[in-house]
Amino acid sequence: LNPRAEADLPEAIGARMKQAGVRLSARRRAVLTALLDSQGHLSREELALRLRDERPKVSLSTVYRFVHVLVTLGIAREIKVGDIARVELDLGRENHDHLVCVACGGIVEFHDDDLESLARSVIRAHGFADGAPRIEVRGTCAVCAASSRDARGHRESRG
Ligand SMILES: [Zn+2]
Ligand SMILES: [Zn+2]
Repeated sequence: LNPRAEADLPEAIGARMKQAGVRLSARRRAVLTALLDSQGHLSREELALRLRDERPKVSLSTVYRFVHVLVTLGIAREIKVGDIARVELDLGRENHDHLVCVACGGIVEFHDDDLESLARSVIRAHGFADGAPRIEVRGTCAVCAASSRDARGHRESRG
């Protein structure tokens, strides 16, 4: 794996870190690059696993500390799936929401203008600050729903 060139990091991320006085070491750059390349929702453990064979090596505690910085600065956001927090880069992306499968932990991204304006009116009605609403809808994905139907079917046919 080649270290990603400075220019490849989104400008907004570099600017936010500079503004906050956060230095971008080689290890931190590796964490950011892994997050960028994953295009998805990795746990800290999965991130550390991806970086295990990198040079320089990145430990799980480095991942934990740096992800905390990224979330605090609004560069990354967390999506809680059961006991696991998944992380994605957020800064510079279009606002989007998540549909989370409670059975397998799968995450689907979506955006719905009606849902967003409804969420904004709920936020205002409760006197919350009117930032971008973050919506996590929980349910059971089609694959998990089908396999639990199958399992029920087997149990029922066995009598
Ligand atoms: Zn599922
Ligand atoms: Zn997402």
